[in-house]
Amino acid sequence: MASDGQKVVLITGCSSGIGLRVAVLLAKDDRKRYHVIATMRDTKRKDKLLEAAGDTYGKTLTLQTLDVCSEESVKQCINSIKDRRVDILINNAGIGLLGPVESISIEEMKKVFETNFFGMVRMIKEVMPDMKMRRSGHIIVMSSVMGLQGVVFNDVYTASKFAMEGFCESLAVQLLKFNVNVSMIEPGPVHTEFEVKMMQDVAKMEYPGADADTVRYFKDVYLPSSLDIFEAMGQSPEDIARCIKKVIE
Ligand code: NDP
Repeated sequence: MASDGQKVVLITGCSSGIGLRVAVLLAKDDRKRYHVIATMRDTKRKDKLLEAAGDTYGKTLTLQTLDVCSEESVKQCINSIKDRRVDILINNAGIGLLGPVESISIEEMKKVFETNFFGMVRMIKEVMPDMKMRRSGHIIVMSSVMGLQGVVFNDVYTASKFAMEGFCESLAVQLLKFNVNVSMIEPGPVHTEFEVKMMQDVAKMEYPGADADTVRYFKDVYLPSSLDIFEAMGQSPEDIARCIKKVIE
C-alpha cells in the first residue's frame, strides 16, 4: 500500500520491455516517491520483473493481473486499489502487426485495435473520473513514432497509434481544467521483445496481394535502412523509462 506522500503509479504490460523497466526504475526511486502497481496479463511471466525489482517487491512495487482487452479484468484491478486512487497511469501494453493489408484478416486487425486503442481507452475510462474528482492526475500513453508517420506494411499498427494520438489530443484539452495531464511518448526503435518478434515476423512474411515494387522497396530499401537505424539509433527500454520518469517528475 502507498504511504503518505507517495504517488500511486499503475503501469500496463510489465512482463517485459519498456513497461518492466519503467516499473523497476520508479520502484527504485531513491526518494521513494512512487508506489508502483506493475500489471501484466499473465503473472506466469513475472520472474523477469521480480528479479529486476529485487527487494522493492512488496515494498514500493506490487504486482497485479491485468489484461487490457478485458473490461472485467480492468475493473477488477482498479477496484482492488485503495480508494481507486491512481495518480499516474502509464498505458504501455501494446502489440504490433506486420504485413500487406491483403494478407491480414479483419479479426487480426481488430486484435491490434482491441489491445492498443481500446485497451488504452478502457484504462483511461476507469481511472479518469476519480482523477477529475481529485483534480489531480497524469495519464501517460505509449504511442510511437509510427503514431506520427505511416510506414509501409505497418498499416494497422500505425493506424492504432494514430487513433491513440487523436483520442489523447482531444482528451488532453478537456482534462486541463481538472489539473489532469495527458502525455504521449513517441519512441523510435527500442530494443525489446517487440523488436525481436517483428524481425521474426519479417523473416517468415509473405506478400500475397502486394505489388512487386512495394515488396522490393520494403525488402531492399526499407528493411536494410531500418536495421541500420536500429543498430545506430535504437534505444534501450531503460532510456525510455528514464524519459517517462522525467515527464512525470
Ligand atoms: P514488449 O513486447 O516487450 O512489451 C509489450 C507488453 O505489452 C508485454 O508486457 C505484453 O504482455 C503486454 N501486453 C500485450 N497485450 C496485452 C494485454 N492484452 N493486456 C496487458 N498487457 C498486454 O514490447 P515493448 O516494451 O517494446 O512495447 C511497449 C510499448 O511500446 C508498446 O505499446 C509498443 O507499441 C510501444 N513501442 C515500442 C517500440 C519498440 O521499438 N519496441 C517503439 C515505439 C513504441 P505479454 O507478456 O502478456 O505478451
